[in-house]
Amino acid sequence: MSDVPSTMRAAFLLEPGRVEVRDVPVPRAGPGAVLVRVDAALTCGTDVKMFRRGHARLPVPAPFGHEFAGTVAAVGSGVDAFAPGDEIMCVPTAPCGACRLCAAQRENLCTAAIDRMVLGAYAEFVLLPRHVVTQHVFRRPASLPAHAAAALEPLSCVVHGASRVDWARAGRTVVLGDGAIALLFARVAMLNGADVLVLGRHEDRLAVARGYGADTALAPGDDAAAREVASWCGSAGAPLVVECVGTAETWRLAARLAAIGGRVLLFGGCAAGTRVEFDAYRIHYEEVDLIGAFHYTPRAVAEAYRLLCGGEVDVEPLITATLPLGMLQDALGMIMDRSAIKVALTPDRGAS
Ligand SMILES: [Zn+2]
Ligand SMILES: [Zn+2]
Repeated sequence: MSDVPSTMRAAFLLEPGRVEVRDVPVPRAGPGAVLVRVDAALTCGTDVKMFRRGHARLPVPAPFGHEFAGTVAAVGSGVDAFAPGDEIMCVPTAPCGACRLCAAQRENLCTAAIDRMVLGAYAEFVLLPRHVVTQHVFRRPASLPAHAAAALEPLSCVVHGASRVDWARAGRTVVLGDGAIALLFARVAMLNGADVLVLGRHEDRLAVARGYGADTALAPGDDAAAREVASWCGSAGAPLVVECVGTAETWRLAARLAAIGGRVLLFGGCAAGTRVEFDAYRIHYEEVDLIGAFHYTPRAVAEAYRLLCGGEVDVEPLITATLPLGMLQDALGMIMDRSAIKVALTPDRGAS
C-alpha cells in the first residue's frame, strides 16, 4: 500500500484544446504534507473552461484537475492525523487564517487560498500541502465510493452559495441551468426547505433534477423561461432566482425573472471583464437584490462533508461516465458536447 513508485502518469494542459498524459516524478511529501494516491477525479466546469481557453494565471504545460478522493500513500514529518492506507477526501484549498477576510469569517475570499490551490488531480498521485492537510482533509467513510467523495469540492461551493440566502423567507426558488452545479443547488435548496423549479435545456439532466424532487421545465429561451416562471410562481415572478450557468445572458435573465422585492443569487461565474446590463429600475424601485457567491468557507466544507457522508446529497446521478485517466481529453469532450454531466477519471494502475 505504501510502496510509492518513482514516476507516475499525470495529465497536463498543453494549450487550449489539448491535454497530454506524461510520465513525471512522483512528488515527495515534505514536512506537514500528505501524498495521496488518486482513486477518482471528477471533471468540473472550471476545468472545461481552462481546457477551452487556457488560463491567464496558469503557465503551460499545467497540471490540472482539483476534484478528487484517494488513499494516503505517504505522509511527511509531523503528520499525525493521517497514515498510509487511510482513505480520504478533501478540497484543494484552505484559507490562510491571518488576513482581514479570514478574520471576518469570509475565508472563501482569502486570496492566499486561491493562490495556493492544489492542481493536478488528473494524475496517479497528488501532494497535499500542510495548510490543506490541517484544515480540509477528511476520512472517507467506507459507504462513500471515491468518485462520489470527489464531489466534496463542488458541493462545498454550493453549500457556501446557499449560505448567502435567507431560506426562512425563500419560498419558491427558480434554479437557472441544468449542469452539475445547478442540480446540486436544486438539491441543497430543497434540503433548506425551498420549493424548486429547475429551468434547463436538456431533458436528461432535468430528469436528474426531478429525481432530486424538483419541478422542472424545458426553457429553450428567455421568453420560454419567463412563461414557465409565471405559470409556476405566478406572474409576479420568483422570490429567489439562482443563476447556475455563468453567462452574461443568463445573469441578465435571472434578474428579469425575479419578483419585486426578490433576490437573485449569481452563482455561475463569468470570465473576468464580462459586462452585464441590468435595468436599474428593478434594482432601485423594485429592490431586487443581486447577490454574488464564490468558493467555500471551512464551515461550508464541513457541512458538505456531512451532507455527502450522510447520504442527504446523492451525487451518483451526476457522475454519468467513468473513464481511465488516459482518456481525459475524451472526458472533457463529453462535458462540452453535453453527453455527460460529470465524468470520473480513474488512474489505470499498472497500465502505461
Ligand atoms: Zn470544481
Ligand atoms: Zn486569509
